[in-house]
Amino acid sequence: MSDDPRRDLVGLGRTALAEEMAGFGAEPFRARQLWHWIYHRGATDFAGMSNLAKGFRELLAQRYTLGRPTVTSALASTDGTRKWLLRFLDGQEVETVHIPEEDRGTLCVSSQVGCTLNCSFCHTGTQRLVRNLGAPEIVAQIMVARDALGEWPSPANGADGGRQLTNIVLMGMGEPLYNYDNVAAALKIVMDPEGLAVSRRKITLSTAGVVPMMARVGAELGVNLAVSLHAVNDELRDQLVPLNRKYPIGELLDACRAYPGSSNARRITFEYVMLKGVNDSPAEARELVRLLRGIPAKVNLIPFNPWPGAPHECSSAAAITAFSDTLFDAGYSAPVRTPRGRDILAACGQLKSESVRARRTNPAPVPPAVGRISAA
Ligand code: SF4
Repeated sequence: MSDDPRRDLVGLGRTALAEEMAGFGAEPFRARQLWHWIYHRGATDFAGMSNLAKGFRELLAQRYTLGRPTVTSALASTDGTRKWLLRFLDGQEVETVHIPEEDRGTLCVSSQVGCTLNCSFCHTGTQRLVRNLGAPEIVAQIMVARDALGEWPSPANGADGGRQLTNIVLMGMGEPLYNYDNVAAALKIVMDPEGLAVSRRKITLSTAGVVPMMARVGAELGVNLAVSLHAVNDELRDQLVPLNRKYPIGELLDACRAYPGSSNARRITFEYVMLKGVNDSPAEARELVRLLRGIPAKVNLIPFNPWPGAPHECSSAAAITAFSDTLFDAGYSAPVRTPRGRDILAACGQLKSESVRARRTNPAPVPPAVGRISAA
């Protein structure tokens, strides 16, 4: 815990920042100026805010901070992928991963410390849920990445060509739809065109299939949707993604059919991890084609990324190619995702931090994290 009594302004939404400034006795335009400095310029201290009077900057610094979580570890893969382990004020930690590609750069953001869902192919699923991240902690992951990539100020008018951070996927640790309010508040800050300015078209929220929340994502946030499918029958999906027992495939696909804003130009992504001898047969590829009928869909085939103690193996290259060909032949885009950052356990499904939930009777100190994350 921090013993700094000052309030951190980073992570406050527009309304909260305006209210905070009103309570501080500042005029309304001050909140707008601060918004610009915090989210457009990435300011980490008040002293450099050149259009604010010196005395006002000093008063702000007495009452507030412009914080960042501590970067406990920063790893770089041989393929350019970077992974940051971030520690928040209460000592809990999550991982955030940046994946550079030729024409874009994607930041994989976490929404929870640990996860409740125990998907059998996912390293995060072996870490019990410690807690939800607050909106400021979700926003902070983007702030830290922009700091590390040297990409302040934020792009103006969404013109992000040539930048290293252009896209965001909520596919890190946790199920974002089990922390919807904080995720939504964070994304509203992230999408604000006068702030971090990441367009909703460049943000993808990935869910294991929390059916009752899916329509809200489309209607309220309008971001792209990805669904962790991984199996074509309920019996197998019950094992791979235990949430399926609550929301089986039929209900999940109905929610996808009804997803607001999906179209052939904005397709829903179905994630399908390739597990040797488990879900990778030609018959399963054909069944997937049948299931997706009527949904504007694309399929991401993810070669399984191993982690210590994992109960699965990756499908053979031949099985993955054959699976992909069946989907392509049926008219679906079905690229095989190139594993990224495997050497630093930053690839899909490998994230995990060493945060644990403190016991109530014996609030043990949080163990030092030497962590690695796992991703949805
Ligand atoms: S795949 Fe996603 S939802 Fe499933 S255990 Fe991993 S982090 Fe949780």
